Amino acid sequence: MPDKVFIFDTTLRDGEQSPGCSMNLPEKIEMARQLDRLGVDILEAGFPIASHGDFEAVKAIAAEIRRPMIAALARANELDINRAWEALREAARPRIHTFLATSDIHLQYKLHKTREEILKMISWAVGHAKSRCQDVEFSPEDAGRTDRGYLVECCQAAVEAGATVLNLPDTVGFCLESDYEQMFRDVQTRVRGMDRVALSTHTHDDLGMAVANTLAGLRGGARQVECTINGIGERAGNAALEEVAMILRVRRDALPLYTDIRSEEIYASSLLLTRLTGMNVQRNKAIVGRNAFAHEAGIHQDGVIKNAITYEIITPQTVGMPSNSIVLGKHSGRHALAKRYEDLGYQLTKPELERAYALFTQLADRKKNIYDEDLLAIVNEDFQHIPELYALKLFQSVSSNDGRSTATLELEKDGATFHDSATSEGPCDAAFRAIDRITGMPGTISDFSVHTVGPGTDGVAEVRIRARFDGREFAGKCTSHSVVEAAARSYLQAANKAAYDSKRTGEAVSVGRVSVHKSETVDRLFPGGY
Ligand SMILES: [Zn+2]
Repeated sequence: MPDKVFIFDTTLRDGEQSPGCSMNLPEKIEMARQLDRLGVDILEAGFPIASHGDFEAVKAIAAEIRRPMIAALARANELDINRAWEALREAARPRIHTFLATSDIHLQYKLHKTREEILKMISWAVGHAKSRCQDVEFSPEDAGRTDRGYLVECCQAAVEAGATVLNLPDTVGFCLESDYEQMFRDVQTRVRGMDRVALSTHTHDDLGMAVANTLAGLRGGARQVECTINGIGERAGNAALEEVAMILRVRRDALPLYTDIRSEEIYASSLLLTRLTGMNVQRNKAIVGRNAFAHEAGIHQDGVIKNAITYEIITPQTVGMPSNSIVLGKHSGRHALAKRYEDLGYQLTKPELERAYALFTQLADRKKNIYDEDLLAIVNEDFQHIPELYALKLFQSVSSNDGRSTATLELEKDGATFHDSATSEGPCDAAFRAIDRITGMPGTISDFSVHTVGPGTDGVAEVRIRARFDGREFAGKCTSHSVVEAAARSYLQAANKAAYDSKRTGEAVSVGRVSVHKSETVDRLFPGGY
């Protein structure tokens, strides 16, 4: 009988706290709904003490998403645990996830505590969490670099205080598979009372080993896997959920394990996350990259046409990836459009469908063939949840080959209209500077990419931007026939997010003497996150 592996998704916690991946409340709820459809067992919704926004997101997700367990992260102290419980209490199946570093490196340089002090803190924190919530997960942060004998003592303390799950993180992505597997075997055999406790993996990809180490942990006895969609996360990221799930599905012959992930929801989950964060997936990314199922070499194409099994171990349909065939044209109606969106994983409401249809017909007037990518661009661009503080009313751009470009803009805010123009070396930069002049929030570009949407020379340009405002990074994405206009709109989107975010996080949560406004600040206070 194969064993079930529980999927603990931390896209909204470890993923979301990494640079460039922050999401606002409606975006987090939308992602949580998709993770529910995908079939994750445990959904880590956030780190409630980190910011007011994180607290509200966990609370809202706990109230709405009822099937998966909802977890919230807390450091091993009273304030954090109480705040996590406050956010979780409406959940159908809540879990408090508390953590404390156990490696000598962290004890000496970060926590300035002795091993004995840490053991006491673990017992107290897990016991306190247990007095609030039946289900308590404990993570000895940096377990991968913790002295093995001491790690066993820490785990013992957590189990005796009532932990139901022990998660052994390779926080810094340092472990080799053999080390990681042996750590699970040691904890399983040397800690007393493990028959009532589940073991969990948490791996990072600093050496490209996250998924391989996850499998090693499973071989060592873990039955819970912590992972994220598209492998987003601190630094090089976490183990990618889609890769772990598909390995366990495709290689059932070699590993007697299974998950309850609905693989046909994988691609929609990946796309949604890309849309919400603006963080592109590399083309050759396993399972969800645009080229993951593209066969270019003639000999491969020939084989696949004869029988896909020659070169394909997974069909695109298994992961819900739409085929790149022409789907709709000028004469397609609302019904066909709604059906196609359904196939792509979007349940549009009536007003949303009307809006999508209007944009679709506009596009069909200019472009003969409408591909899935075009349809996705329509919903992705136009269905953003960012409140439009500044709306673009007029845009004009003049560029010349003598190194001077001018952009003139009209933005509307609260019914008032603002005009300004700026000159710069490039037309995009001129547009950004004109926006800065109106909003009064100067930004710097940290990433800028242009793609064409769909094949053909009549394709539209998709611009993705990541811009920093006041030390924080926000994403924007837009499509247009004009690259410069798409860039200006993307930048404005990022600026709107920044303006919204600074309004939203105005009320800071006080953590001891330290005032924490953003999870980014938490990362700085606790380097490495966990
Ligand atoms: Zn982590």
